Amino acid sequence: MRPPYLLLDIDGVLIPFPDADGSTPATHARHDVVPNGRSAGNPVTVWLDPAHGPMLMDVISAGFVTPVWCTSWRQDAATLIGPLLGLPPLPHVDLPRPQITTSHPNGYLWKRDHVEAWLGDAPAVWIDDDFTSLDHAWAAERTARAAATLLIQPDPRAGLQAEHVVEARAWAERLLAVRAGATVTPSETEAA
Ligand SMILES: [Mg+2]
Repeated sequence: MRPPYLLLDIDGVLIPFPDADGSTPATHARHDVVPNGRSAGNPVTVWLDPAHGPMLMDVISAGFVTPVWCTSWRQDAATLIGPLLGLPPLPHVDLPRPQITTSHPNGYLWKRDHVEAWLGDAPAVWIDDDFTSLDHAWAAERTARAAATLLIQPDPRAGLQAEHVVEARAWAERLLAVRAGATVTPSETEAA
């Protein structure tokens, strides 16, 4: 059985928002990267916490989740950001580039419709800093129809914290344990 998906955002999660004066957390190392479509002379500066790589790899290599980037960095997540954290190349949700001026054009996170289509009925833990109450209602509705969904929402000024990863891991581990238990019920054992 496939472990639940771990959908992972970057901006506001792995790259926290800078303070008003432009300063970034001392825990985060600065790097210049050149996203796809930009010229080499026009890099983007990012800041990443080197502790995030091992923290995420701990959950990934234990086999508790199926990690997928879900970010407007799209394929650059795997080619530019992941390697800076020591993460292996991970797949990404192929998000479109909508002409929107807010991340909640319909009151909920713009990524959600694409994620919903991509997930089908698969369970998922989704870490993003930008959910609204409608997204939390959506997660509850999915969970109620057996597509277990957990939304974890870091403060974008602080970004991903160890407790978020612990929460994701515990949720996925519990889900896998329930599923494993469900596959061997007493009645099935008798039937066999
Ligand atoms: Mg974000």
